[in-house]
Amino acid sequence: MTDPPDLGKGANLSKGATVPPKREPIIEVKDLKKHFPIKKGIILARQVGAVRAVDGVSFDVAAGETLGIVGESGCGKSTTARLIMRLLDPTSGQILYQGQDIATLSRKELKPLRRDMQMIFQDPYSSLNPRKTVGSIISEPFIIHGTETDEDKRKKLVQELMDQVGLNPEHYNRLPHEFSGGQRQRIGVARAIALKPKIVVADEPVSALDVSIQAQILNLLRDLQRDLGLTIIFIAHDLSVVRHMCDRIAVMYLGKVVELASADELYARPRHPYTGALLSAVPVPDPVLAAAKKRQILGGDVPSPANPPSACRFHTRCPKAVMGTCDVDEPQLEVKDGGSIAACHFPLTDREVGAQVPTAAA
Ligand code: SF4
Repeated sequence: MTDPPDLGKGANLSKGATVPPKREPIIEVKDLKKHFPIKKGIILARQVGAVRAVDGVSFDVAAGETLGIVGESGCGKSTTARLIMRLLDPTSGQILYQGQDIATLSRKELKPLRRDMQMIFQDPYSSLNPRKTVGSIISEPFIIHGTETDEDKRKKLVQELMDQVGLNPEHYNRLPHEFSGGQRQRIGVARAIALKPKIVVADEPVSALDVSIQAQILNLLRDLQRDLGLTIIFIAHDLSVVRHMCDRIAVMYLGKVVELASADELYARPRHPYTGALLSAVPVPDPVLAAAKKRQILGGDVPSPANPPSACRFHTRCPKAVMGTCDVDEPQLEVKDGGSIAACHFPLTDREVGAQVPTAAA
């Protein structure tokens, strides 16, 4: 078996690669797997299979970089996020944080690292305790980690955080239900950045919000990333959301990364047919270009991760599939023409991309 390609160390990629110049990775994920057992029987339950939610994912993220992880529901992106945060235990693989493998650390050993890695959750409604005031919610990290024991100083820090994320510090004693959806997500952001983490994992942080509010939260995250030098792993199911947010984007399908490229390269020259289909669904504001665009509708349902298709998992839905090859020989991630890293035997050509995404390679 060949070694997997380098999935982020730009200096090591072949000529033409557009991944940003080499910076030290702060997070490296190597062959990460999470298989959830399927059991039958009540008293003597026995394992009869496994849902391969994440099945051999590798990438790295440089300090200060924003990596987007994109794919449909059930592709494994949120499970990957929870594995990196160690909210789930991996089945196998490595998660290197500043060179240290944290995949097998105990809860106690992880505690000091939790300060460096924080998460923003998808649903600002359910991720906040409705009975706690905003002040006490944002204070929690200081109390849990014992970093500020003086109550007055803690209140001052919390009010500074509220101001930093665009909340009125005078609303310190209000309850979550007194805030709008966007404001509640700002509360989640303030709690996440309270301890000045190095990494923030944002799991679909705007998908529960109105479109008009989404841009405000994305702008906030971008500003915070710039001001605090944050590294962000941004999970989304929609390529239109991550375009202006991310430096690089990994596209996942059925537990695997199928393409990884700089955001510019991915939008201009997607190489994997699945990425092409996702991009063809992104709305184009210009009506002339929209009319010229050929939407790639994917056939069939997403197969079950408990029983994924053989070889290329996308072959049951791929318009370019060649039976005898795609269903027999699993494509490996490798650098394609233009610099994207994609797992496909028959990657999209510029002509095909131009038909689907007229603003791109045509
Ligand atoms: Fe489609 Fe074959 Fe490429 Fe898989 S390997 S994405 S089935 S062309």
